[in-house]
Amino acid sequence: MIFDTAVIGAGAAGLFAGACLAESSAASGKTIILEKGTRPGRKLLMAGSGQCNLTHSGDMKDFVSHYGPNGKKIRSVLYQFSNERVISFFEERGCPLTVRSDGKVFPRSFQGSQVLNLLVQSCLNGGVELRCQCPVLSLEKLGREQAGSPESCFRITCGDGSAVFARRVLAASGGCSYPSTGSDGSLFPLLRDLGLEIVLPRPALVPLYVERYPYGELSGISFSPAAVILSDGKTGKKMAENQDDLLFTHRCLSGPAILNLSRHARPGQRITVCYLPGLSRGDVERMLREAALGSERQRQLLSMLCGLFPVLPRRFLELLCTRAEAAADRRAAETPGAAFRRLAALLTEDSFTVSGPGRFSEAMVTSGGVALSAVDLKTMESKACPGLYLAGEVLDVDGDTGGYNLQFAFSSAWLAVRSLAAALPDEAVR
Ligand SMILES: Cc1cc2nc3c(=O)[nH]c(=O)nc-3n(C[C@H](O)[C@H](O)[C@H](O)COP(=O)(O)OP(=O)(O)OC[C@H]3O[C@@H](n4cnc5c(N)ncnc54)[C@H](O)[C@@H]3O)c2cc1C
Repeated sequence: MIFDTAVIGAGAAGLFAGACLAESSAASGKTIILEKGTRPGRKLLMAGSGQCNLTHSGDMKDFVSHYGPNGKKIRSVLYQFSNERVISFFEERGCPLTVRSDGKVFPRSFQGSQVLNLLVQSCLNGGVELRCQCPVLSLEKLGREQAGSPESCFRITCGDGSAVFARRVLAASGGCSYPSTGSDGSLFPLLRDLGLEIVLPRPALVPLYVERYPYGELSGISFSPAAVILSDGKTGKKMAENQDDLLFTHRCLSGPAILNLSRHARPGQRITVCYLPGLSRGDVERMLREAALGSERQRQLLSMLCGLFPVLPRRFLELLCTRAEAAADRRAAETPGAAFRRLAALLTEDSFTVSGPGRFSEAMVTSGGVALSAVDLKTMESKACPGLYLAGEVLDVDGDTGGYNLQFAFSSAWLAVRSLAAALPDEAVR
């Protein structure tokens, strides 16, 4: 039997594509999803800490700025299946959504399993075959003679040695992040053999490790927000900046402010953190000196700092005093001016050398993958290998935290389905 469509990967993109295909009656019995894991959508269940942040409610004009340098290239993909269409898709199929005050969109139940069940059920109800424990080991395009049919087709060899034949293939195998979920980059060599350029995959949305990290004992403390600048270690040139929540972990810096910068980070670069966004080093030094010479002169230095900066945790300020060689228990008026200068520098320009981003096992997404230049972004079809389509994180697209990655998975999957199903009569996938 030759399937019309074989989808490789039952993640967000693959299942969404399956659900769209399932709504075309012509898909019944003619579409198969091949998934290497024992069950579909494992990463979807982890998304948003199990709550599944499906998309963001912001203006679509703003979306492209959330995908790094490749954002502009995928504008039309996002516009054709926008955040509003994602929201309607789920709500119309019985999964009401809610928009949080920060614009992130979740199922109203805050259960990622509801999203996963909806997609899986849509596939199964529409006659899409979902075959798990079926890792794709090889992917070949057969000419008409080899295929023994009037059209060319693909031969897909699975882990158990069985072969699946399909007229069109949608590669939705994800990137390399969280390989324990099945997304381990195993399809990249097969896609390269079919002539597609692969941009070196690297961890993104990942915590950053810095040399001589001082905040291990403050693990769990967060700042909302902090301003973070990433700059060249030699020239000091600014590479990227971000203002968002920052989190200290046992071994590294994390939180959205760091994760969203991580796609740019390389060892040797500098990270500078301002824990008091909007205030300069000079502003803070002045505030400290004025307080210590005025109304706060009799207080201990640490109490004065807590009073001046109530948004900052006491334990953090205490450690900062140690780092600035300022006696926390000494009267503010007795603190030397040089100690105020050091404290102001740490509060507004706490600077670290990046030793490296975290590994794929810590990265929420992958930067790199199939080069966008290898794909016709009007159809999501490979230029080198007609009949092969791509969607989701397998492509060289990585978005910020906030629902941007699932939005791209859905938008690209929808566009791929619309293109590969163009010959089908049903309007549901158009
Ligand atoms: C912890 C965590 C939290 C996240 N939270 C969010 C969030 O809240 N919002 C958001 O927008 N994004 C979030 N993301 C990112 C988002 O989950 C991914 O970008 C998205 O799942 C990508 O979808 P995909 O279908 O392209 O790939 P995946 O979801 O990775 O699915 C790929 C599938 O392909 C299968 N596969 C791989 N290779 C083969 C092969 N050779 N043969 C057969 N099958 C194969 C894999 O087993 C997997 O099931 C999060 C990611 C992580 C890790």
